[in-house]
Amino acid sequence: MAPHAWLDWLFPRFCAGCGGDVAEPDRHLCWDCRASATYIQPPYCTRCGDPVAGRVDRPFLCPLCAEREGGFDIARSVVRHEGAVAQAIRDLKYNGHLWLVPDLADLLEAGVRTHFSPDAFDLISWVPLHPARRRERGFNQAAELALALAARLHLPAAPTAARVRHTATQTRLTLVERAANVRNAFRPVRAGRWRGARVLLVDDVMTTGATAHACARTLRESGAAAVGVITVSRG
Ligand SMILES: [Zn+2]
Ligand SMILES: [Zn+2]
Repeated sequence: MAPHAWLDWLFPRFCAGCGGDVAEPDRHLCWDCRASATYIQPPYCTRCGDPVAGRVDRPFLCPLCAEREGGFDIARSVVRHEGAVAQAIRDLKYNGHLWLVPDLADLLEAGVRTHFSPDAFDLISWVPLHPARRRERGFNQAAELALALAARLHLPAAPTAARVRHTATQTRLTLVERAANVRNAFRPVRAGRWRGARVLLVDDVMTTGATAHACARTLRESGAAAVGVITVSRG
């Protein structure tokens, strides 16, 4: 086998979404799959970025955000959690396809430039996994994405929170149960260092935002001046 064939075997060059060819080196989502993703656009909740159908003429808060105290200032997601991007996130998380990080970091970078200004933040961080789950998976996908994003934005990256409770999987819980499930799930890491910092937290997917909100609240309590959240996709 020629050397490049070995590389193709190690780092497959077919699209994670459709199986087609990918022309660009180091990328594993083809142009069509990236272009066909549903990019999230207004109208959405001013705070958490949850989009609503139809036309809304003025800024609004969704019912969840109307009740939320502390936590993140603004959260945004780049695309809907569906199709090729959802497949890529599943392959990254559950099959360890770490070569998908650059594709997903492309989306995050575009999202930061669309929804925020990179100048708005001093530090990039991520939503932590519980140590037991991180050991089991071998990596934290949110950390991998955050490090790739920080390199692109020329910002420092560091862990700012740790997960202290091994929370049950959120998928079968109601909204209220999700919020309760993660309420005390985090503790700050080197709390004093982030006093006054404007932190951008990265995660792969946001659903109700309860996890990101609980993590952001820990950062606010340890003195962060502002906490933004960016996720690749929105469930
Ligand atoms: Zn494709
Ligand atoms: Zn909201």
